[in-house]
Amino acid sequence: MRDDDRWPGHPRLLPDESISSWFTRTAAANGLRPGELYRIVQPGGDRNPRDFDRHADYCLLDLLANKTGLPVEDLKLATFRRWSGRLFEHDDGLNKLAWLPPAGREGGRRCFGQQICPWCLRADAQPYLRLNWRLSFFTACPIHGRLLLDRCPTCAEPFSILRQDGWGTICCPGCGADLRDFTGDEPALDTAPVQRDLLDLIRDGWRSLGEYGPVYSFAVLEMLALLLRLLAGGKHAHALRLWLAEQDSSLAVRRESLPRVRDGALLTPRARGVLVTMAHWLLAEWPHRFVEAAKTVGMTSTDLRKRPVGEYPFAYAHAVDWRLKESHKGDATEEIAAAAQLLQGHGQSASRRNLVALCGTKLGSMGRVAEPVASGRLWGKGRYWKLDGVSPEVKAAARRAAHRAGEDVGPWLDTLLRRMLGLGATKTPFDRHDPDTITPDANVGCEE
Ligand SMILES: [Zn+2]
Ligand SMILES: [Zn+2]
Repeated sequence: MRDDDRWPGHPRLLPDESISSWFTRTAAANGLRPGELYRIVQPGGDRNPRDFDRHADYCLLDLLANKTGLPVEDLKLATFRRWSGRLFEHDDGLNKLAWLPPAGREGGRRCFGQQICPWCLRADAQPYLRLNWRLSFFTACPIHGRLLLDRCPTCAEPFSILRQDGWGTICCPGCGADLRDFTGDEPALDTAPVQRDLLDLIRDGWRSLGEYGPVYSFAVLEMLALLLRLLAGGKHAHALRLWLAEQDSSLAVRRESLPRVRDGALLTPRARGVLVTMAHWLLAEWPHRFVEAAKTVGMTSTDLRKRPVGEYPFAYAHAVDWRLKESHKGDATEEIAAAAQLLQGHGQSASRRNLVALCGTKLGSMGRVAEPVASGRLWGKGRYWKLDGVSPEVKAAARRAAHRAGEDVGPWLDTLLRRMLGLGATKTPFDRHDPDTITPDANVGCEE
């Protein structure tokens, strides 16, 4: 490409600058607004350019490289592609990226994925945005120690550099406030060591997770995102936070500064910083801290794994399935045998129904232990009484009448029929008014 094909203004990329920030400065250097330059490079493109940091494609990057003389490789590293295979496995451009939430407005929705440090902007000769500010585990400025802002403190509009109108400054697209005029607050706790560690993790591309050996960084970060989700919302979040604060006093934070939300990316930088630090603490010594926490607050595999095993990082799915499996129902044979003995000691039959009543739950192996009830009798195990020709209304009315009488249908019908047929009363396998009786054993019922 000849030099005279270049645009007159072609600024360098500044340290860690994001491509959207550089694009905005390039537009300004050529006397244009970012939206105007965008329509030149993408004729017929959307009026509001989509998140450049994520969606700038190779075609566009090549064109920009040609028009500015910058190496295309440098431009690529100013997009999310910098973290491909490290922060995420790969990006199809459609699915959510766990640690890179969208920025600005997407389809009318406000997205708070662009964070800024107003102190850095004030210190810049030319204010610009850092790509690291897009990482949602990055919640405080490592230079100034203050929380990043993820929305305008005046009008709560999310930041979107491509909607800039002014030149040489960075303003809120909602109210036009100069972002250098704001200050970031103190973080609730020191998040710097965790941020540094996670940046190191991305740089290394892997981490050793105890017995699971080296694990890819994107899988470790996916696990961290799962832990953050447990801490951010859901029925165990509060208990988990309390437990963590007991384990490590540096994690004790005022409750009201931690709202509960389903999606950790929607938290403010203050709350997100605390919860990421907690999740990071849980991830250490994998899986021991996590397993202890889950057992203490009563989380089991049912709470922790909703999707098929293959959709989770192995180190997570394995820890959940092997250490936090809901008490395996087939393995309770001893408990069932003890329950059967207890029933027999009270002169009760150890029938399946009585066992279920005593144990408070249905266990698969009860069938093997349970004794058939008074075989040959009407209420024997599995002896359903077929009543061909009995209409559904009569069955339903019989069931209602039995329940009104406080009986199950079988004994109720038995009593009724005996009376009708002039037969004497017989003792059922238990006496329902015996105080030791657990529950009636009435296996007889109308087949539905
Ligand atoms: Zn700063
Ligand atoms: Zn504003």
